[in-house]
Amino acid sequence: MAKIQMRTPLVEMDGDEMTRIIWAMIKKNLIEPYVDLKTEYYDLGLVKRDETDDRITVQAAEAVKKYGVGVKCATITPNAQRMTEYNLKRMYKSPNGTIRAILDGTVFRTPITLDCLKPSVRSWTKPITIARHAYGDIYKCTEYRVPKAGKAEIKFTDSEGNVLFDETVFDFKCPGVLMGMYNKDDSIQSFARACFEFALSTKQDLWFSTKDTISKKYDHTFKDIFQEIFDKEYRARFEAEGIEYFYTLIDDAVARVIRSNGGFIWACKNYDGDVMSDMVATAFGSLAMMTSVLVSPDGNYEYEAAHGTVTRHYYKHKAGETTSTNSMATLFAWTGALRKRGQLDGIDELVKFADNMEKASLKTIQDGFMTKDLALLADLENKTVLDTEGFILKVKETYDSIAG
Ligand code: NAP
Ligand code: MG
Repeated sequence: MAKIQMRTPLVEMDGDEMTRIIWAMIKKNLIEPYVDLKTEYYDLGLVKRDETDDRITVQAAEAVKKYGVGVKCATITPNAQRMTEYNLKRMYKSPNGTIRAILDGTVFRTPITLDCLKPSVRSWTKPITIARHAYGDIYKCTEYRVPKAGKAEIKFTDSEGNVLFDETVFDFKCPGVLMGMYNKDDSIQSFARACFEFALSTKQDLWFSTKDTISKKYDHTFKDIFQEIFDKEYRARFEAEGIEYFYTLIDDAVARVIRSNGGFIWACKNYDGDVMSDMVATAFGSLAMMTSVLVSPDGNYEYEAAHGTVTRHYYKHKAGETTSTNSMATLFAWTGALRKRGQLDGIDELVKFADNMEKASLKTIQDGFMTKDLALLADLENKTVLDTEGFILKVKETYDSIAG
Protein backbone atom coordinates (compact mmCIF):
# COMPACT_ATOMS: atom_id res chain seq x y z
CA MET A 1 0.00 0.00 0.00
CA ALA A 2 1.32 3.43 -0.95
CA LYS A 3 1.68 5.79 1.98
CA ILE A 4 -0.56 8.84 2.24
CA GLN A 5 1.31 11.94 1.13
CA MET A 6 1.23 15.19 3.10
CA ARG A 7 1.63 18.66 1.66
CA THR A 8 2.30 20.92 4.63
CA PRO A 9 4.24 19.79 7.69
CA LEU A 10 2.74 19.37 11.14
CA VAL A 11 4.54 21.08 13.98
CA GLU A 12 5.63 18.18 16.18
CA MET A 13 6.47 19.01 19.79
CA ASP A 14 8.08 16.13 21.66
CA GLY A 15 7.93 15.98 25.44
CA ASP A 16 8.92 14.15 28.60
CA GLU A 17 8.85 10.92 30.56
CA MET A 18 6.23 8.23 29.85
CA THR A 19 4.44 10.28 27.24
CA ARG A 20 7.72 10.69 25.34
CA ILE A 21 8.01 6.87 25.23
CA ILE A 22 4.39 6.57 24.04
CA TRP A 23 4.97 9.32 21.47
CA ALA A 24 7.70 7.33 19.72
CA MET A 25 5.64 4.11 19.85
CA ILE A 26 2.60 5.79 18.28
CA LYS A 27 4.64 7.32 15.47
CA LYS A 28 6.49 4.11 14.68
CA ASN A 29 3.54 1.71 14.83
CA LEU A 30 0.40 3.68 14.07
CA ILE A 31 1.39 6.57 11.84
CA GLU A 32 4.61 6.09 9.88
CA PRO A 33 3.56 2.75 8.33
CA TYR A 34 0.59 4.53 6.67
CA VAL A 35 1.49 8.20 6.28
CA ASP A 36 4.57 9.71 4.67
CA LEU A 37 4.80 11.86 7.77
CA LYS A 38 6.06 15.40 7.29
CA THR A 39 6.75 17.25 10.51
CA GLU A 40 8.81 20.17 11.67
CA TYR A 41 10.24 18.70 14.88
CA TYR A 42 10.75 20.63 18.11
CA ASP A 43 12.04 18.81 21.15
CA LEU A 44 10.27 20.36 24.14
CA GLY A 45 11.72 17.74 26.49
CA LEU A 46 13.10 19.42 29.60
CA VAL A 47 16.73 18.67 28.68
CA LYS A 48 16.42 20.53 25.39
CA ARG A 49 14.44 23.38 26.95
CA ASP A 50 17.27 23.84 29.44
CA GLU A 51 19.92 23.64 26.71
CA THR A 52 18.18 26.38 24.69
CA ASP A 53 17.13 28.56 27.66
CA ASP A 54 13.56 27.65 26.64
CA ARG A 55 13.90 29.34 23.23
CA ILE A 56 12.79 26.05 21.66
CA THR A 57 9.32 26.50 23.16
CA VAL A 58 8.95 29.97 21.66
CA GLN A 59 10.19 28.67 18.29
CA ALA A 60 7.66 25.84 18.38
CA ALA A 61 4.82 28.27 19.08
CA GLU A 62 5.99 30.51 16.22
CA ALA A 63 5.99 27.46 13.96
CA VAL A 64 2.37 26.66 14.90
CA LYS A 65 1.52 30.22 13.87
CA LYS A 66 3.30 29.68 10.56
CA TYR A 67 1.88 26.27 9.65
CA GLY A 68 -1.45 26.41 11.48
CA VAL A 69 -1.43 22.93 13.06
CA GLY A 70 0.69 21.40 15.81
CA VAL A 71 0.70 18.31 17.98
CA LYS A 72 2.27 18.38 21.43
CA CYS A 73 3.43 15.68 23.82
CA ALA A 74 2.99 16.25 27.56
CA THR A 75 5.90 18.10 29.15
CA ILE A 76 7.25 18.61 32.65
CA THR A 77 6.54 21.97 34.26
CA PRO A 78 9.59 22.25 36.52
CA ASN A 79 9.28 22.68 40.27
CA ALA A 80 12.00 22.67 42.95
CA GLN A 81 12.37 18.88 42.80
CA ARG A 82 12.83 18.94 39.00
CA MET A 83 15.53 21.62 39.37
CA THR A 84 17.73 19.06 41.13
CA GLU A 85 16.56 16.05 39.12
CA TYR A 86 17.49 17.72 35.81
CA ASN A 87 20.15 20.10 37.14
CA LEU A 88 18.32 23.03 35.52
CA LYS A 89 19.66 26.53 34.96
CA ARG A 90 16.30 28.13 35.73
CA MET A 91 12.80 27.16 36.82
CA TYR A 92 11.19 27.46 33.37
CA LYS A 93 7.55 28.41 33.00
CA SER A 94 4.98 25.89 31.84
CA PRO A 95 5.48 25.32 28.07
CA ASN A 96 1.70 25.31 27.66
CA GLY A 97 1.52 28.73 29.29
CA THR A 98 4.26 30.06 26.97
CA ILE A 99 2.59 28.63 23.87
CA ARG A 100 -0.84 29.90 24.91
CA ALA A 101 0.53 33.40 25.48
CA ILE A 102 2.01 33.46 21.95
CA LEU A 103 -1.00 31.94 20.18
CA ASP A 104 -3.51 33.83 22.37
CA GLY A 105 -5.64 30.74 22.43
CA THR A 106 -8.56 29.11 24.15
CA VAL A 107 -8.31 25.52 25.37
CA PHE A 108 -11.06 23.04 24.46
CA ARG A 109 -11.21 19.77 26.39
CA THR A 110 -13.18 16.82 25.06
CA PRO A 111 -13.51 13.33 26.55
CA ILE A 112 -13.10 10.25 24.35
CA THR A 113 -16.32 8.31 24.87
CA LEU A 114 -17.08 4.61 24.46
CA ASP A 115 -20.17 2.44 25.01
CA CYS A 116 -18.36 0.36 27.64
CA LEU A 117 -17.32 3.43 29.61
CA LYS A 118 -20.53 4.64 31.17
CA PRO A 119 -20.52 8.29 32.25
CA SER A 120 -21.83 8.92 35.76
CA VAL A 121 -24.58 10.97 34.11
CA ARG A 122 -26.64 8.34 32.30
CA SER A 123 -28.14 10.65 29.69
CA TRP A 124 -24.73 11.66 28.30
CA THR A 125 -24.27 9.69 25.10
CA LYS A 126 -22.03 12.19 23.31
CA PRO A 127 -19.00 14.09 24.57
CA ILE A 128 -19.27 17.54 26.12
CA THR A 129 -16.45 19.93 25.28
CA ILE A 130 -15.55 22.63 27.78
CA ALA A 131 -14.01 25.85 26.49
CA ARG A 132 -12.42 27.80 29.31
CA HIS A 133 -11.48 31.45 29.05
CA ALA A 134 -7.93 31.28 30.37
CA TYR A 135 -7.37 34.96 31.15
CA GLY A 136 -8.09 37.29 34.06
CA ASP A 137 -10.91 37.31 36.65
CA ILE A 138 -9.92 35.85 40.02
CA TYR A 139 -6.71 34.42 38.50
CA LYS A 140 -5.36 37.96 38.17
CA CYS A 141 -7.14 39.57 41.11
CA THR A 142 -6.01 41.84 43.92
CA GLU A 143 -7.09 40.57 47.31
CA TYR A 144 -6.98 41.96 50.80
CA ARG A 145 -7.64 40.44 54.19
CA VAL A 146 -9.43 43.29 55.92
CA PRO A 147 -8.11 43.42 59.51
CA LYS A 148 -10.61 45.77 61.17
CA ALA A 149 -13.38 48.33 60.65
CA GLY A 150 -12.87 50.68 57.71
CA LYS A 151 -14.05 51.65 54.25
CA ALA A 152 -13.32 49.73 51.03
CA GLU A 153 -13.55 51.80 47.84
CA ILE A 154 -13.23 51.16 44.12
CA LYS A 155 -11.90 53.93 41.90
CA PHE A 156 -11.05 54.30 38.23
CA THR A 157 -8.81 57.07 36.96
CA ASP A 158 -8.42 57.40 33.18
CA SER A 159 -5.04 57.96 31.51
CA GLU A 160 -5.65 61.75 31.49
CA GLY A 161 -6.08 61.71 35.25
CA ASN A 162 -9.87 62.14 35.40
CA VAL A 163 -11.63 60.09 38.05
CA LEU A 164 -14.48 58.41 36.19
CA PHE A 165 -15.67 56.13 38.93
CA ASP A 166 -15.36 56.25 42.72
CA GLU A 167 -17.66 54.17 44.91
CA THR A 168 -17.75 52.54 48.28
CA VAL A 169 -17.70 48.76 48.03
CA PHE A 170 -18.42 48.21 51.70
CA ASP A 171 -18.25 50.00 55.02
CA PHE A 172 -16.64 47.38 57.25
CA LYS A 173 -17.59 47.38 60.94
CA CYS A 174 -15.47 44.28 61.59
CA PRO A 175 -12.67 42.27 59.87
CA GLY A 176 -13.47 40.66 56.51
CA VAL A 177 -12.22 40.00 52.98
CA LEU A 178 -11.97 42.10 49.84
CA MET A 179 -11.17 41.42 46.18
CA GLY A 180 -10.78 43.44 42.97
CA MET A 181 -10.63 41.78 39.57
CA TYR A 182 -10.75 42.68 35.88
CA ASN A 183 -10.89 41.45 32.34
CA LYS A 184 -10.22 43.06 28.94
CA ASP A 185 -12.49 43.45 25.93
CA ASP A 186 -9.83 42.19 23.53
CA SER A 187 -9.31 39.01 25.55
CA ILE A 188 -13.06 38.35 25.72
CA GLN A 189 -13.32 38.97 21.96
CA SER A 190 -10.51 36.49 21.27
CA PHE A 191 -12.22 33.95 23.50
CA ALA A 192 -15.51 34.43 21.68
CA ARG A 193 -13.92 34.08 18.23
CA ALA A 194 -12.00 30.95 19.26
CA CYS A 195 -15.28 29.40 20.49
CA PHE A 196 -17.22 30.29 17.33
CA GLU A 197 -14.35 28.98 15.13
CA PHE A 198 -14.19 25.73 17.08
CA ALA A 199 -17.95 25.23 16.89
CA LEU A 200 -17.81 25.66 13.11
CA SER A 201 -14.80 23.39 12.76
CA THR A 202 -16.45 20.57 14.78
CA LYS A 203 -20.02 21.32 13.60
CA GLN A 204 -21.43 21.42 17.13
CA ASP A 205 -23.71 23.88 18.92
CA LEU A 206 -22.06 26.43 21.19
CA TRP A 207 -23.45 27.23 24.63
CA PHE A 208 -22.20 30.14 26.70
CA SER A 209 -23.17 30.95 30.26
CA THR A 210 -22.39 33.60 32.84
CA LYS A 211 -24.10 35.10 35.89
CA ASP A 212 -25.26 38.21 34.02
CA THR A 213 -28.45 38.67 36.05
CA ILE A 214 -26.40 39.35 39.18
CA SER A 215 -23.29 40.85 37.58
CA LYS A 216 -24.95 43.46 35.39
CA LYS A 217 -21.72 45.09 34.18
CA TYR A 218 -18.97 42.48 34.48
CA ASP A 219 -20.66 39.27 33.31
CA HIS A 220 -23.12 41.16 31.15
CA THR A 221 -20.20 42.54 29.11
CA PHE A 222 -19.11 38.97 28.34
CA LYS A 223 -22.64 38.18 27.16
CA ASP A 224 -22.83 41.35 25.03
CA ILE A 225 -19.43 40.83 23.39
CA PHE A 226 -20.29 37.25 22.44
CA GLN A 227 -23.63 38.32 20.99
CA GLU A 228 -22.16 41.21 19.03
CA ILE A 229 -19.43 39.08 17.46
CA PHE A 230 -21.89 36.30 16.73
CA ASP A 231 -24.34 38.65 14.97
CA LYS A 232 -21.65 40.43 12.97
CA GLU A 233 -19.27 37.64 12.04
CA TYR A 234 -20.74 34.21 12.60
CA ARG A 235 -24.54 34.09 12.40
CA ALA A 236 -24.64 33.37 8.67
CA ARG A 237 -21.94 30.71 8.87
CA PHE A 238 -23.69 28.99 11.78
CA GLU A 239 -26.96 28.96 9.84
CA ALA A 240 -25.20 27.51 6.82
CA GLU A 241 -23.78 24.67 8.96
CA GLY A 242 -27.08 24.12 10.77
CA ILE A 243 -25.59 24.76 14.20
CA GLU A 244 -26.71 27.10 16.98
CA TYR A 245 -25.27 29.65 19.37
CA PHE A 246 -27.15 29.61 22.64
CA TYR A 247 -26.66 31.89 25.66
CA THR A 248 -28.13 31.10 29.04
CA LEU A 249 -27.64 31.92 32.72
CA ILE A 250 -25.04 29.60 34.30
CA ASP A 251 -27.57 28.08 36.74
CA ASP A 252 -29.78 27.15 33.83
CA ALA A 253 -26.79 25.86 31.86
CA VAL A 254 -25.76 23.52 34.69
CA ALA A 255 -29.27 22.05 34.86
CA ARG A 256 -29.49 21.67 31.07
CA VAL A 257 -26.03 20.09 30.81
CA ILE A 258 -27.01 17.37 33.29
CA ARG A 259 -30.27 16.67 31.43
CA SER A 260 -28.64 16.76 27.97
CA ASN A 261 -27.29 13.96 25.77
CA GLY A 262 -24.03 15.87 25.23
CA GLY A 263 -22.62 16.67 21.82
CA PHE A 264 -22.02 20.41 22.25
CA ILE A 265 -19.41 22.93 23.36
CA TRP A 266 -19.89 24.73 26.65
CA ALA A 267 -17.97 28.00 26.85
CA CYS A 268 -17.24 29.13 30.41
CA LYS A 269 -15.62 32.07 32.11
CA ASN A 270 -12.23 31.34 33.68
CA TYR A 271 -13.36 30.14 37.11
CA ASP A 272 -16.47 28.34 35.87
CA GLY A 273 -14.37 26.54 33.25
CA ASP A 274 -11.75 25.52 35.80
CA VAL A 275 -14.37 23.94 38.05
CA MET A 276 -16.75 22.56 35.44
CA SER A 277 -13.99 20.94 33.37
CA ASP A 278 -12.94 18.85 36.36
CA MET A 279 -16.55 17.88 37.01
CA VAL A 280 -17.24 16.96 33.39
CA ALA A 281 -13.93 15.05 33.06
CA THR A 282 -14.59 13.02 36.18
CA ALA A 283 -18.18 12.28 35.21
CA PHE A 284 -16.98 10.99 31.82
CA GLY A 285 -14.55 8.60 33.52
CA SER A 286 -10.84 9.20 33.18
CA LEU A 287 -8.16 11.84 32.74
CA ALA A 288 -6.36 9.39 30.47
CA MET A 289 -9.27 9.71 28.00
CA MET A 290 -9.38 13.50 27.86
CA THR A 291 -8.13 15.33 24.78
CA SER A 292 -7.29 18.97 24.53
CA VAL A 293 -6.87 21.46 21.72
CA LEU A 294 -5.71 25.05 21.82
CA VAL A 295 -7.44 27.18 19.20
CA SER A 296 -6.27 30.68 18.44
CA PRO A 297 -8.70 33.39 17.29
CA ASP A 298 -6.97 33.49 13.90
CA GLY A 299 -7.47 29.75 13.44
CA ASN A 300 -4.29 27.94 14.55
CA TYR A 301 -4.72 24.55 16.21
CA GLU A 302 -2.51 22.77 18.72
CA TYR A 303 -3.56 19.26 19.84
CA GLU A 304 -2.49 17.41 22.97
CA ALA A 305 -3.55 14.98 25.69
CA ALA A 306 -4.99 16.67 28.78
CA HIS A 307 -2.96 14.50 31.17
CA GLY A 308 0.65 15.00 32.20
CA THR A 309 3.81 12.96 31.65
CA VAL A 310 2.61 10.09 33.93
CA THR A 311 5.77 10.25 36.06
CA ARG A 312 4.96 7.29 38.30
CA HIS A 313 4.72 4.95 35.29
CA TYR A 314 7.92 6.38 33.81
CA TYR A 315 9.96 5.53 36.90
CA LYS A 316 8.63 1.95 36.70
CA HIS A 317 9.52 1.86 33.00
CA LYS A 318 13.04 3.12 33.73
CA ALA A 319 13.45 0.43 36.38
CA GLY A 320 12.69 -2.17 33.72
CA GLU A 321 9.18 -2.99 34.95
CA THR A 322 6.24 -3.32 32.56
CA THR A 323 3.78 -0.46 32.49
CA SER A 324 0.21 -0.26 31.32
CA THR A 325 -0.11 3.39 30.37
CA ASN A 326 -3.09 4.52 28.32
CA SER A 327 -2.03 6.07 25.00
CA MET A 328 -5.53 7.02 23.77
CA ALA A 329 -5.38 10.77 24.49
CA THR A 330 -1.93 11.06 22.92
CA LEU A 331 -3.07 9.06 19.88
CA PHE A 332 -6.12 11.33 19.52
CA ALA A 333 -3.82 14.36 19.64
CA TRP A 334 -2.04 12.91 16.59
CA THR A 335 -5.22 11.97 14.74
CA GLY A 336 -6.78 15.34 15.57
CA ALA A 337 -3.78 17.17 14.14
CA LEU A 338 -3.56 14.95 11.04
CA ARG A 339 -7.30 15.33 10.38
CA LYS A 340 -7.07 19.12 10.65
CA ARG A 341 -4.01 19.15 8.35
CA GLY A 342 -5.92 16.99 5.89
CA GLN A 343 -8.94 19.31 6.01
CA LEU A 344 -6.87 22.46 5.54
CA ASP A 345 -4.86 20.97 2.68
CA GLY A 346 -7.79 19.16 1.05
CA ILE A 347 -6.27 15.67 1.51
CA ASP A 348 -9.31 13.42 2.00
CA GLU A 349 -7.17 10.31 2.49
CA LEU A 350 -5.49 11.88 5.51
CA VAL A 351 -8.85 12.78 7.04
CA LYS A 352 -10.07 9.22 6.42
CA PHE A 353 -6.89 7.79 7.93
CA ALA A 354 -7.41 9.81 11.13
CA ASP A 355 -11.07 8.72 11.32
CA ASN A 356 -10.20 5.05 10.81
CA MET A 357 -7.33 5.07 13.29
CA GLU A 358 -9.64 6.53 15.94
CA LYS A 359 -12.29 3.93 15.08
CA ALA A 360 -9.70 1.14 15.32
CA SER A 361 -8.54 2.30 18.75
CA LEU A 362 -12.12 2.54 20.04
CA LYS A 363 -13.00 -0.88 18.60
CA THR A 364 -9.93 -2.39 20.26
CA ILE A 365 -11.17 -1.27 23.67
CA GLN A 366 -14.77 -2.16 22.93
CA ASP A 367 -13.52 -5.66 21.94
CA GLY A 368 -12.03 -5.98 25.41
CA PHE A 369 -8.35 -5.08 24.91
CA MET A 370 -7.24 -2.17 27.04
CA THR A 371 -4.77 -0.73 29.53
CA LYS A 372 -5.14 -1.24 33.26
CA ASP A 373 -6.76 2.12 34.04
CA LEU A 374 -9.66 1.35 31.69
CA ALA A 375 -10.02 -2.26 32.81
CA LEU A 376 -11.03 -0.86 36.19
CA LEU A 377 -13.78 1.24 34.58
CA ALA A 378 -15.04 -0.67 31.56
CA ASP A 379 -18.40 -2.35 31.70
CA LEU A 380 -17.50 -5.52 29.72
CA GLU A 381 -17.65 -9.28 30.36
CA ASN A 382 -14.22 -10.16 29.01
CA LYS A 383 -11.32 -7.84 29.48
CA THR A 384 -7.68 -8.35 28.59
CA VAL A 385 -5.20 -5.99 30.21
CA LEU A 386 -2.34 -5.10 27.90
CA ASP A 387 0.92 -3.34 28.60
CA THR A 388 1.75 0.05 27.09
CA GLU A 389 3.21 -1.27 23.85
CA GLY A 390 0.87 -4.26 23.68
CA PHE A 391 -2.14 -1.97 23.47
CA ILE A 392 -0.61 0.09 20.67
CA LEU A 393 0.24 -3.07 18.71
CA LYS A 394 -3.31 -4.34 19.22
CA VAL A 395 -4.68 -1.08 17.80
CA LYS A 396 -2.44 -1.57 14.77
CA GLU A 397 -3.83 -5.09 14.32
CA THR A 398 -7.40 -3.75 14.49
CA TYR A 399 -6.59 -0.93 12.07
CA ASP A 400 -5.07 -3.34 9.56
CA SER A 401 -8.14 -5.58 9.79
CA ILE A 402 -10.67 -2.79 9.21
CA ALA A 403 -8.78 -0.53 6.81
CA GLY A 404 -6.60 -3.04 4.99
P1 NAP B 1 -0.30 13.01 35.26
O1 NAP B 1 0.94 12.83 34.51
O2 NAP B 1 -1.51 13.35 34.47
O3 NAP B 1 -0.56 11.69 36.09
C1 NAP B 1 -1.36 11.62 37.25
C2 NAP B 1 -1.86 10.19 37.45
O4 NAP B 1 -3.00 10.00 36.63
C3 NAP B 1 -0.88 9.11 37.05
O5 NAP B 1 0.05 8.82 38.04
C4 NAP B 1 -1.82 7.98 36.71
O6 NAP B 1 -2.35 7.37 37.87
C5 NAP B 1 -2.99 8.71 36.04
N1 NAP B 1 -2.78 8.87 34.59
C6 NAP B 1 -2.62 10.06 33.90
N2 NAP B 1 -2.50 9.80 32.59
C7 NAP B 1 -2.56 8.47 32.44
C8 NAP B 1 -2.46 7.60 31.32
N3 NAP B 1 -2.28 8.10 30.09
N4 NAP B 1 -2.57 6.27 31.51
C9 NAP B 1 -2.74 5.76 32.74
N5 NAP B 1 -2.84 6.53 33.85
C10 NAP B 1 -2.74 7.86 33.71
O7 NAP B 1 -0.15 14.17 36.35
P2 NAP B 1 1.01 14.48 37.41
O8 NAP B 1 1.60 13.21 37.93
O9 NAP B 1 0.42 15.44 38.34
O10 NAP B 1 2.13 15.25 36.60
C11 NAP B 1 3.29 14.64 36.04
C12 NAP B 1 4.08 15.67 35.24
O11 NAP B 1 3.30 16.08 34.12
C13 NAP B 1 4.44 16.92 36.00
O12 NAP B 1 5.82 17.20 35.82
C14 NAP B 1 3.59 18.01 35.39
O13 NAP B 1 4.28 19.24 35.34
C15 NAP B 1 3.32 17.49 34.01
N6 NAP B 1 2.02 17.92 33.41
C16 NAP B 1 2.05 18.28 32.10
C17 NAP B 1 0.88 18.62 31.44
C18 NAP B 1 0.96 19.00 30.00
O14 NAP B 1 2.02 19.00 29.40
N7 NAP B 1 -0.16 19.32 29.38
C19 NAP B 1 -0.33 18.55 32.12
C20 NAP B 1 -0.35 18.15 33.45
C21 NAP B 1 0.84 17.82 34.09
P3 NAP B 1 -1.70 6.08 38.59
O15 NAP B 1 -0.32 6.49 38.95
O16 NAP B 1 -2.60 5.88 39.75
O17 NAP B 1 -1.71 4.94 37.61
MG1 MG C 1 -9.44 22.73 37.89
